[in-house]
Amino acid sequence: MKNRLILIVLLSIFVFYGCSPGLHRESQFLMGTYVEVVSEDLSAADIVFGEFKRLDSVFNIFDTGSELSRLNKAGEIHASEDLFEIIKKAKQFYELTGGAFDVTVAPVSVIWKKAIRSSKLPAKEAIDEALSHVGFDNVYLDDNSRQIKFLKLGMMVDLGAIAKGYAIDKAVLKLKEAGVSSAVVNAGGDIFCLGENRRKAWAVGIQDPRIAKSIAEKIELKNMAVATSGDYEQFFVFQNKRYSHIINPKSGYPADSGIVSATVVTKDALTADVLATAVVVAGKAKAAEFLKEFAGARVKIIDEKGNIDEL
Ligand code: AMP
Ligand code: MG
Repeated sequence: MKNRLILIVLLSIFVFYGCSPGLHRESQFLMGTYVEVVSEDLSAADIVFGEFKRLDSVFNIFDTGSELSRLNKAGEIHASEDLFEIIKKAKQFYELTGGAFDVTVAPVSVIWKKAIRSSKLPAKEAIDEALSHVGFDNVYLDDNSRQIKFLKLGMMVDLGAIAKGYAIDKAVLKLKEAGVSSAVVNAGGDIFCLGENRRKAWAVGIQDPRIAKSIAEKIELKNMAVATSGDYEQFFVFQNKRYSHIINPKSGYPADSGIVSATVVTKDALTADVLATAVVVAGKAKAAEFLKEFAGARVKIIDEKGNIDEL
């Protein structure tokens, strides 16, 4: 019997600019996604794009010359400030989320990325073999020398669930340094709303995960970040089961927690990016536990039945 296989990539969050004369809107494809900048300030977009380009040359797992690729190849590096900072953050979130967030999931996530591209289910043996190289406990970090070292052969890091958030926060810092006080930076649905949209908060719409182009909810943000992760962004369907790009690092298989979408509003884009991914992996009960550590975060989830809930 032939199975029908589907691949769909959708954007998950929209920003409403209303009737906005004077707002400049520019986008560029960077870090594997469309980065959109909206601001009254003509210089804002170039500042943001410059920062994304700089960081993409550090974090891009598909570019063999990137610093991350050099770490993945050699298993050891004396890292730049950016690579060391992001890996340190990744470690904190690994610990805080009880391993639901684990950037060393790369040997497995690479297999699933290929599977999604080719719509072919990977062999269980390949997953199990890759899984034996996963686990942040086997990453050694030295604060003084900024050394990062994998303690097991075959380990790799994938920053796909944290790099956009990191880059947005760095870009917003650059905007502030340049005196830009009002802008939206939207990297494929990871968003920071800086200041106000002419004396009003920026309005952001969250997509309904099962109905294309339909808005489930509208939220208003000022100096806050929002990110959504979901199984509807990149996935394929095999024998009526959905396999997405968000991986449970314990099983080696795509997250199967019953949460199809998580939207997180926090003060910084990195935390929003990471928590959105981690909540989809962990599921409602475990996520509610680790979210106690993030008192300021607002988290909305949508489950398989379409129910919206707040954590
Ligand atoms: P996001 O779209 O922010 O949810 O990030 C998803 C991406 O993060 C995937 O495409 C993988 O590259 C990577 N990833 C998948 N599962 C995990 C996980 N459990 N922890 C950390 N990164 C992950
Ligand atoms: Mg993420």
